[in-house]
Amino acid sequence: MAEQLLYEGKAKKVFATDEEGVLVHRYKDAATAFNAQKRGSWKDKGRTNATVSSTIFAYLEAHGVLTHFVEQVDEAAIKTRKLEMLPIEVVVRNIAAGSLAKRLGYEEGTKLKAPIVELCYKDDDLGDPMVNWYHFRELGVSDEDLEFCEELGLKVNEILTPFFDERGVTLVDFKIEVGRDDDGRLMLADEISPDTCRFWDKETGEKLDKDRFRRDMGGLVEAYTEVARRLGIMNEMENVATKGPKLVQ
Ligand code: 5GP
Repeated sequence: MAEQLLYEGKAKKVFATDEEGVLVHRYKDAATAFNAQKRGSWKDKGRTNATVSSTIFAYLEAHGVLTHFVEQVDEAAIKTRKLEMLPIEVVVRNIAAGSLAKRLGYEEGTKLKAPIVELCYKDDDLGDPMVNWYHFRELGVSDEDLEFCEELGLKVNEILTPFFDERGVTLVDFKIEVGRDDDGRLMLADEISPDTCRFWDKETGEKLDKDRFRRDMGGLVEAYTEVARRLGIMNEMENVATKGPKLVQ
């Protein structure tokens, strides 16, 4: 399969393929935080995130969520549908942490009365600010698209909260993105992984996500690997995620 580099992002490279409307996302071991002011990388991050994200996308597809996921190509790469991305980051929260804890003055770990959805304008130069529907209308985003984003965020949360709970992980919050295909269909895109979610061990509260990098806590390989292990996609012998989603049920 011929692959032509279209775009290199902070954590992945995106390639065109010779299949019409299909891209390959190749996950890197690199990590950034705080709008790329902090940089790092660790072993097997790309492979683990690609496999965790594939597993979650396949699970969501099996539960009625349309996504860009086509198939996992190898341990670090995923075939996706080519989409026109909305300039939106949809954040859904079950427990106060990170910027919400600061915004509301809540102690981190406070359970929210109901899930909170936030829409952020995806723009690195601006630091992805949270904005409201009026701002998005000004930016040319339709109300229908905003409604889709909020409903999708809540639906993904409804499916993934029990999925992780059964695997001993609390889904604290997460970020998703949405894109539109050539037929005008909106769908879930980007990735769902320890880079884009807060995962806390249900028993101990231990952080199993990118906050360990953001907050210099160490134990990154172990935390990301543990998420893969909880999803049952870990090859214990090699200590890396194995190829392919296996969890659709
Ligand atoms: P917060 O707003 O508290 O920093 O983040 C809320 C949730 O969304 C966290 O799970 C965080 O990982 C995710 N998130 C928000 N913005 C981004 C982003 O630009 N990149 C990534 N990887 N995750 C984000």
